[in-house]
Amino acid sequence: MVKVVKFGGSSLASAVQFEKVGNIIRSDETRRYVIPSAPGKRDSGDTKVTDMLYDCYRSAKGSGLFETKLDAIFRRYEEIIKGLGLDLSMEEEFQTIHDNFAKGIGVEYAASRGEYLNGIIMSHYLGYTFIDAAEVIRFHEDGGLDTEKTDELLQKRLADCEYAVIPGFYGAQEDGTVRTFSRGGSDITGSLVAKAIRADLYENWTDVSGVMVTDPRIVKDPEVIDTITYRELRELSYMGASVLHEDAIFPVRQGGIPINIRNTNRPHDKGTFIVESTCRKPRFTITGIAGKKGFCSINIEKDMMNSEIGFGRRVLQAFEDEGISFEHTPSGIDTFTVIVHQEEFEAHEQQVIAGLHRLAQPDIIEMQSEIALIAVVGRGMKSTRGTAGRIFAALAHANVNVRMIDQGSSELNIIIGVDNRDFETAVKAIYDIFVITRI
Ligand code: ASP
Repeated sequence: MVKVVKFGGSSLASAVQFEKVGNIIRSDETRRYVIPSAPGKRDSGDTKVTDMLYDCYRSAKGSGLFETKLDAIFRRYEEIIKGLGLDLSMEEEFQTIHDNFAKGIGVEYAASRGEYLNGIIMSHYLGYTFIDAAEVIRFHEDGGLDTEKTDELLQKRLADCEYAVIPGFYGAQEDGTVRTFSRGGSDITGSLVAKAIRADLYENWTDVSGVMVTDPRIVKDPEVIDTITYRELRELSYMGASVLHEDAIFPVRQGGIPINIRNTNRPHDKGTFIVESTCRKPRFTITGIAGKKGFCSINIEKDMMNSEIGFGRRVLQAFEDEGISFEHTPSGIDTFTVIVHQEEFEAHEQQVIAGLHRLAQPDIIEMQSEIALIAVVGRGMKSTRGTAGRIFAALAHANVNVRMIDQGSSELNIIIGVDNRDFETAVKAIYDIFVITRI
């Protein structure tokens, strides 16, 4: 059994948090490969080290005065080192970082130092080998990941290394130039390592006890999902549930490796398992509810539309020509509706309408803004009758008017459009009916 364990910034924000992480790793000797993030916020008013580094590098490039900012970062690490009682000095490392900043080495190098330094501390603390991610995570010059080369480098380097710390978030090009993933990218590093060594499990430790059924900002203390499939998670993430970096799913999914989301502050909680497929019945009919505000619907009407072959394509062409991606296209006999992101659409509104007139010659075009979309997701819906009935009964009782409904034939999700102002009420009502009252 081999586990790859990734710890997020809040799990490594202070010496106290590092100690919790140390206990977790030492309690299970199969936790052999550790991926740390940079130190995150110690409390809500704090700043993540990655943000401090971006800011510091901006000053280096701008006024050239960045010493005070770099010193504040140095002190964050010193505090952790002292708190852990380690015999380790970061002075030389910071001198190198200082000189590189002064040279204008690049913003991605700057941001990557948060993970790099935390990795050094972690390896000392655990007595594990430190492997610089620049050696094993390979980027193309255009900033994309070289998946094959990375897999090969990781396999080679880890073959004779039983216990190692590999910092998250960055890697390097062939010529050594340091590159980073997008924010939250340490999740990707963990996933790549897990895939390369064919781990049995990828544990992703954070500050919540797993993926929640819905957004805790809308429903207080929502239930945690015990098992979710990759497909369900993708649906929920797409609609706003933030759990893992989107690109972290693909490597482990390819390798058939489950992910376990765990809470560093409550290590005995089982967390959420993210798996390819499962015969386990979900606890509730639905697995999760997620949603976003800020959509807009464009309703196009034309007599005899149904007999006009190619009408849908021409309508969508008008959006494509303006670079607008569409979310849903519910349609009727003589109507075709396109749902798009309002902000993205607003900038091109008049061009799209002109395009629609030119390409599709509609009778009427109507627009409705301030729409929220809610995705009710669950593999359990397929075999249960009445799910949609319960959703809409709950919404009717909560006085929410439904503006749009879309259910894919996979029966994995039902998408509901409501007015922005009804969004929270609708999510609460759906949660209530499936999770609390379970009628
Ligand atoms: N430290 C980076 C960030 O704040 C990457 C990560 O934590 O995954 O985005």
